[in-house]
Amino acid sequence: MNLPRIDIDLGKIAHNVQQLKTLYGSKGINVVGVTKVIGGNPIIADILVKNGIEILADSRISNIIKMRKAGIRAQYLLLRTPALSQVEAVVIHTHISLNSELTVLKKLSEYALRNHIIHKVVLMVELGDLREGIMPSEMNAMVKEVLNLEGLVLVGIGTNLACFGGISPDADKMNELSSIAIRLEEKFKITLAMISGGNSANYNWFTSSKDVGRINSLRLGESIFLGREALRRKQIPGLFTDIFTLLAEVIEAKRKPSQPYGEVYQNANGDIPKFENEGLMDRAVLAIGMQDVIVSGITPKQKITVLGASSDHMLIDNTETSLKVGDTVAFDLNYCALLRAFSTPNISKNTINLYECASIL
Ligand SMILES: *Cc1c(COP(=O)(O)O)cnc(C)c1O
Repeated sequence: MNLPRIDIDLGKIAHNVQQLKTLYGSKGINVVGVTKVIGGNPIIADILVKNGIEILADSRISNIIKMRKAGIRAQYLLLRTPALSQVEAVVIHTHISLNSELTVLKKLSEYALRNHIIHKVVLMVELGDLREGIMPSEMNAMVKEVLNLEGLVLVGIGTNLACFGGISPDADKMNELSSIAIRLEEKFKITLAMISGGNSANYNWFTSSKDVGRINSLRLGESIFLGREALRRKQIPGLFTDIFTLLAEVIEAKRKPSQPYGEVYQNANGDIPKFENEGLMDRAVLAIGMQDVIVSGITPKQKITVLGASSDHMLIDNTETSLKVGDTVAFDLNYCALLRAFSTPNISKNTINLYECASIL
């Protein structure tokens, strides 16, 4: 099998999905499966759907098209608030979108009508993280406008925290979202079917809340694929955190000085690097680089230290491992590294099924 590559244990994904669905389902919360971190990989998306995920959410229309072309049947939700230049593709390729701009909503309405489609919209509320969202004080005016837009149906409201500002989706924030939902329903005599409280960062709020209020949906990526909550990146009990393994091949292994010698200027990354002189060192070069992964986001599973990387090469201290040319090094990946690795065709994706999960096939 080609290198570098990512081995993906589908059985472990199935397990994590089942556990999360049961956990969140116990308090009436539906899990929306977020596929952006796996680049809309259809084989993986299929596992989510087969394990009961009904809505697949992605930030990129291209990923949604990929999954739909592969025949993965689900409701598709666009996570990133649509760009004005994309609105026609949004109504054609997705069923639901998260929105915060009236100009965009008006265009969505126009293209929905033109294409004889009813497009579902969720309005995003700003609750302090300061990424996308309508200020709570402007929700009434926005809902009033949206209810008059033909071709669109307002199915819910949502919020997104812990992404830009690192703001915790705590009980105060979730109560505020619930109150806004209740207020809007009373004022406009409508029913909001989806109250989407957030992402993998909502785990601590969820476990510590007896009453989740009106929140009935969460959009989960990291928890499904890395088995973690996203505030402190702690493992969620019973979930697998080792679904993905990155493998890279050794292309040079030699004993060399530990300190570069000659006059020091900028390296490939524009840094002026500093290395201590620790005498001779067993070093190895791996055939993977910054084009492929976020080097700071991967952790070797063996006892090696990553010394650095340029576009296509990664340097490691091989003292304790004595790797030879042709050997492979295995790495765990964090969220950002996974995201990047799935966006490049240079890393093969190899699905395996080591952990046998009952309802995977
Ligand atoms: C990426 C994203 C998510 C998923 O976040 P995770 O932390 O991976 O669960 C949810 N909502 C929005 C709007 C996103 O962009």
